[in-house]
Amino acid sequence: MTATTARRVLLAAPRGYCAGVDRAVIAVEKALEQYGAPIYVRKEIVHNKYVVETLRKKGAIFVDETEEVPEGSIVIFSAHGVAPVVHEEAERRKLATIDATCPLVTKVHKEAVRFAKEDYDILLIGHEGHEEVIGTSGEAPDHITLVDGPGDVENVEVRDPDKVVWLSQTTLSVDETMETVDALKERFPGLVSPPSDDICYATQNRQTAVKQVAADSDLVIVVGSKNSSNSVRLVEVALGAGAKAGHLVDNASEIDEAWLEGVATVGVTSGASVPDVLVEGVLEWLAERGYGDVEVVQPMEEKLTFSLPKELRRDLRAEAERKAAG
Ligand code: SF4
Repeated sequence: MTATTARRVLLAAPRGYCAGVDRAVIAVEKALEQYGAPIYVRKEIVHNKYVVETLRKKGAIFVDETEEVPEGSIVIFSAHGVAPVVHEEAERRKLATIDATCPLVTKVHKEAVRFAKEDYDILLIGHEGHEEVIGTSGEAPDHITLVDGPGDVENVEVRDPDKVVWLSQTTLSVDETMETVDALKERFPGLVSPPSDDICYATQNRQTAVKQVAADSDLVIVVGSKNSSNSVRLVEVALGAGAKAGHLVDNASEIDEAWLEGVATVGVTSGASVPDVLVEGVLEWLAERGYGDVEVVQPMEEKLTFSLPKELRRDLRAEAERKAAG
């Protein structure tokens, strides 16, 4: 870095918690308060190490499958959604369930059910093995084929090329998804598009914001866990938008001082499952190294919130009424 180059941080907004993550995390906290520990949670409630550890300390027990939950216990389903067989298994085992599936994931499930009923072949663009994709595929396993990026398009086979629709995981790169759609359209000109965007508002907004930041950054630091799809995508989008370097870190302790060599502007953002306290830690770390000048880059505002899962709302309301009655 030259002596005349000022060091600064461009902080992307919106970043961090989306409405679906906020709702899911609050659902676990409220369930712990309402019913007491332990509360079982199937899979990571959201893909963030810090959030999962914090809830674990408060009494949440994270399991991979409902069969690990003792009969009669309470289990919360994560924001990524579950296949109908998981609901059936929970019912068989007499578990009380709280479904924290993000409403925007539920929307994609409903689209899958509707198009399957109309006997479409559904091409689900998403990442193989991701919990959301497993959940959505489970809604109509005989109708859904996973398409994992543009390179996968040539392998796709359908029954009737004139009766094909595409849907997608909610947390993909917008640009890469459109590349996949274009390639699919070349193979299947009659391909039907979903009635509205499946890639959710939060994923889209975070990508738009990081693109603006990246264009002027030598280095972009994305705070997020490695299994968080939307966080990983933010690094890719930043690099595609002109950032000279980009790294994903769970927190400030994972930043390598060597990344700062020759760097004047550092872009900072975070995935949709990341609490802002982790971003604050990164900003403090950077300020200690001369990057104390922080400029917020905010192309849009977000106001969306979701109400808590209905099972929890019912019990919280009943509790409030009991207390009010004396
Ligand atoms: S990233 Fe989007 S789909 Fe996923 S929980 Fe957040 S709002 Fe819902």
